[in-house]
Amino acid sequence: MQIAETKNLWSKFPKIELHRHLEGAFDLKTLFRIAQKNKLDVPADFSAFKDAFQFPKDSGPDFHLFLSKFKNNWYRSLEDIYTITYESVKSFKEDNLFYVELRFNPESFAIFNNFDREEVTKLVLEAGNKAALEIGLKIKYLITFNRGQRDLDYFLSLYEKLLAIDKPEIIGVDLAGDEVNYPVKLFARLFTGVNRDGRYKATIHAGEVTPPSEIWEAVKLHAARIGHGTTTIQDPKLQDYLTDNRIALEQCITSNYQTGSWRDSKTHPMNPLYRKRVPVTINSDDPTIQNTQLSEDYAKAEKLFGFTLDDFVNLNLTAVQASFITDNEKETLQNDYLGAVGDFKELTPLPKLSIY
Ligand SMILES: [Zn+2]
Repeated sequence: MQIAETKNLWSKFPKIELHRHLEGAFDLKTLFRIAQKNKLDVPADFSAFKDAFQFPKDSGPDFHLFLSKFKNNWYRSLEDIYTITYESVKSFKEDNLFYVELRFNPESFAIFNNFDREEVTKLVLEAGNKAALEIGLKIKYLITFNRGQRDLDYFLSLYEKLLAIDKPEIIGVDLAGDEVNYPVKLFARLFTGVNRDGRYKATIHAGEVTPPSEIWEAVKLHAARIGHGTTTIQDPKLQDYLTDNRIALEQCITSNYQTGSWRDSKTHPMNPLYRKRVPVTINSDDPTIQNTQLSEDYAKAEKLFGFTLDDFVNLNLTAVQASFITDNEKETLQNDYLGAVGDFKELTPLPKLSIY
């Protein structure tokens, strides 16, 4: 079966996703509507708009072209932010997400209009929670800090403010953006503080387009998970360390191709690392910008790595264990998740599938 056909099948499979950026997972029709309403300088025709917003299908890997697709000037009102969040989370149904740790960057939503960052954060949670409830999705949130967007002192004060709004749905912080020009150690004070306060766990984008030394820096700063970490494949000691300490890699096949992190999906490190029992998880990253869905990454992993249904269940159970919820919550999530996998097996016609 071709990837396009199996993608439809995998779209029905329940998924635990730990690495998805709200800003890269927008519902495109809603964003188009908001752009027209706010009279932004974007193409008036939807298909041209789509081309301008998404990574071109025929383009080779290009990290900076990829980053250039993230824009923060869409919104003219808090209602715009509510609407785009609500509609985007509703659209996660298409991938049949079961549990998601959705990350977002309050600064990106607020910066253009200087909206109140706490208010924006509360609004994203309110809209996301409502949409998640309506589609039966369990949802938690991570706050993303974007390298280069603001200086460290600003990040520290924003972190304190967001800590003070006291929302239990926020369970972690994330460092994203240009890891080439902004190495992990520049953010040591932020992550030392996060660890000291103990309210949030940390995940850091590292080793996506930088060497394993950056992943070592991230774990030194108490990162409990690593975003991408493709260069882990170059460092067996690091693989052992991650395995021994159950620090999971959040890996993303399509995204890694488009950014140039890994140029040949067939040899993507997810496969050898999984076979070596390094904790890896399968994620989309920015499905709208990538013009793809998480289900397509599943189809790729099946076709290119020979992953079976059992492998995918394993990857998702690793994701449960690597999630930032409490141990009790993990136990409940795992039981519920296995129930959903049982339903999937029952409802999916077995003989036609190669995945069993
Ligand atoms: Zn990411």
